[in-house]
Amino acid sequence: MAEIKKITCIECPMGCDISVEIENQTVISVSGNVCPRGEIYSRNEVVCPRRVITTTVRTKGGRVVPVKTDKPVKKSEMFEIMKIINSLRVDDGIKENDVIVADITEDINLIAVDDEI
Ligand code: SF4
Repeated sequence: MAEIKKITCIECPMGCDISVEIENQTVISVSGNVCPRGEIYSRNEVVCPRRVITTTVRTKGGRVVPVKTDKPVKKSEMFEIMKIINSLRVDDGIKENDVIVADITEDINLIAVDDEI
């Protein structure tokens, strides 16, 4: 029996309300999206939701540096990734887009996001 999941797309500020029809763990149809990004987002959201991690790390000198993953990571892996991030102490001389941790999961890097650090 098919099930309808309601999702709000977070890919842009329009926040479209999307309906995803699922049967036997398979997406049957997607409706309500205004553009193809919404379909991709909602299909991923019901099968394997992902998010970009945006947080901070401490430098060896004691400052706080904003960082993010350069692609969305699986929500199911976020707790383990945050444990790695929280254990880091990075050099004070890092610059915007410097890779803090290469391949922190899959082919996803943790990068610095602010050049005024
Ligand atoms: S479906 Fe497209 S237009 Fe609607 S919120 Fe998602 S990205 Fe934006």
